[in-house]
Amino acid sequence: MNRYKFVKPFKNMAKYIFVTGGVTSSLGKGIFAASLAKLLQARGYRVTIQKFDPYINVDPGTLNPYEHGECYVTEDGAETDLDLGHYERFLNTPTSQANNVTTGRVYQTVITKEREGAYLGKTVQVIPHITDEIKRRMLLLGQTGEFDIVITEIGGTVGDIEALPYIETLRQIRWELEEHDTLVCHLTLIPYLKSAKELKTKPTQHSVKELQTIGVRPDILVCRTEMEITDDMRKKLALFCNVDRDCVIQALDVNSIYAVPLEMQKEKADLTVLRKLHLSADKPIDLTKWNEFLDKVSNPKGEVRIGLIGKYIELQDAYKSIHEAFIHGGASNNVKVIVESVHSEHLDASNAHEMLGNLHGLLVAPGFGNRGIEGKIEAIKYARENKIPFFGICLGMQCAVIEFARNVLGMKGAHSTEMNPNTPHPVIDMMEAQKKIKNKGGTMRLGAYRCDLKKDTLALRLYGQEHISERHRHRFEFNNTYLEQFENAGMIASGKNPDNGLVEIVEIPANPFFIGVQYHPELKSTVDNPHPLFVGLVKAAIEFKGVLKPVVTKEKVEA
Ligand code: GLN
Repeated sequence: MNRYKFVKPFKNMAKYIFVTGGVTSSLGKGIFAASLAKLLQARGYRVTIQKFDPYINVDPGTLNPYEHGECYVTEDGAETDLDLGHYERFLNTPTSQANNVTTGRVYQTVITKEREGAYLGKTVQVIPHITDEIKRRMLLLGQTGEFDIVITEIGGTVGDIEALPYIETLRQIRWELEEHDTLVCHLTLIPYLKSAKELKTKPTQHSVKELQTIGVRPDILVCRTEMEITDDMRKKLALFCNVDRDCVIQALDVNSIYAVPLEMQKEKADLTVLRKLHLSADKPIDLTKWNEFLDKVSNPKGEVRIGLIGKYIELQDAYKSIHEAFIHGGASNNVKVIVESVHSEHLDASNAHEMLGNLHGLLVAPGFGNRGIEGKIEAIKYARENKIPFFGICLGMQCAVIEFARNVLGMKGAHSTEMNPNTPHPVIDMMEAQKKIKNKGGTMRLGAYRCDLKKDTLALRLYGQEHISERHRHRFEFNNTYLEQFENAGMIASGKNPDNGLVEIVEIPANPFFIGVQYHPELKSTVDNPHPLFVGLVKAAIEFKGVLKPVVTKEKVEA
C-alpha cells in the first residue's frame, strides 16, 4: 500500500531516523545521533543530523551559556545548539541554518504567515498548522538530494508537554511515509540500584509506554547503562517494549565520547538500522582514521597543562568546542592536554604567578560583558611578559589588544567600548555596521568570513595557506585608527578581512607563540581536521614545557 499522502515522494528522498529520549535528560542523544551517523557515513552513506528544540527562543543566540552551554555558530551564520558541534566534529561536514529548529522559530514562521493572511480566514492551530510547519522543516534536508539519511534529534524528554507537537509530527510522518523509510530510536536509562544491586528496566518500559500513548512505537531502544545488561534483560526489554530482540542496544558508559561509535558498532547498531531501512550493508565499514585518532587519545606520549581563562568555567559545556578542539590538537601532537580552568574573576596581579605559573600555555576565552575582564587582561600580561604560549579567542583577542595598549603603549584606561563607552583610548570599538542595530537576537557579525594572512607571520606558518575562512560571532572589532601605533610597538595584524580591512588576527612576533583571533577557530576543529591554531598552541606548549616526560598509565604501572 502506498500511504504517501501529504508528503510527495521525491526521487532522491532520504530515509529518516528520529532520535527521542526518555526517563531523563542529558542521556547523550546528540552523541548517539552523531555516533550512529558516523557509522553510516563510514559505510558510504551521505548523512546529516538536525536538532529540533522545544524551547520558545527563536535560536539559542540570546541564551546565557549557563542555560544550555555554548552557542555553536554554523558556516551560514546560524546560532545553534551545541549538539551541532558534535555533529560536525564527528562527521566532518558542515551543518547549516536548516539543521537546528526551535519551537520559537516554528511559531515565528506560522505567525508571520498568519499576519500576511496566508491562512485565508482559518483558525490557526497547533494541529495542523504548527505540526505542518514542523513537518516541512523535518523533511526539508531529506528533499535536497544531498543526503541518503537524515537523523533528527528531538530535544527534551518524551512526556514533556512542550515536546508533544514534535512527537505528533513524527507520528504523522511515519504514517505518511513507507514503513522502511523511517525509524525511531528511543534513548533511555537503565539505572543501577545500589541497594538492590540490580539494573532496572521499569523506567524504560514506562517511557516507551508514554511514547506509545502518543501513537509512536520505537523501533530501536538505546539503553544507557553503567553496567553490561544481561541477555535476559534484553529479552525482557524487547518483549515488554515491543521491539525486536536485536533492537535492544546497550550504550555502556565510556571514557571518551569518541569511543561511542565503536560501542555502537559492537552492538551492530548500524547493521540493524540499515536492515530496518532496507538499505544495503554491503560496503565494508571504514573507520581507519577514527581508530587512529582514538588510539592517540588513549595512548598519549606525554601531557601538557593549558589554562583556560574564562568566566563560565563552572560549566564545561560553556566552552564545549574549545575543550574538544584541545582533544583534537592534543591527539595530533600525541599528547594529552590537561585543560585547567581558571576563573578570570579570581585572578589579579597579586596571584597571577600562583595561578598561572605552572601552566604550559594559556587560552583566554570568548565572552561578553565586563565580568572577569580585568582577570583576563592580567593573565595576558603574565603570558606576554613570561613568553608563555598565548592564544586569545574573540574577546580573548580583544583583551590582548587592550593589555598591549595599556602596558606597552602606555595608554592608561585603554578599553573596549563594550566595557567602557567613555574610555579615552577605544582600541576595541563597535563595528560600524552594528551601530544602528537595536535587536539582540541574530544581529551580530555571524558566520564565515574570509581572511588574508600576511607573509612571514605565525598565522601563515600555522595555516600553511594565505587565504582562509573562519566563523565569527561578535559586535566589536580592533579599532584600525590605532593599528600603526600597535605595529610600531610590536603587535602586528597578521590577518585581515580582504573586503573591509577588519583586523582578524593579531600577534607579537617577538614572543614564540602569542596570537589572538577575532573569530572562533574552535568551531571548525574536527576529528579528521584538527584546527591548525590548536595544533600549534599545543605544540608550542610542548616546547615551552621542554623535554616531555612519559605519562605513567595505570596499565604500565601494573605491567
Ligand atoms: N563581546 C565581544 C564582541 O561582541 C566578543 C564576542 C565573543 O567573544 N564572542 O565583540
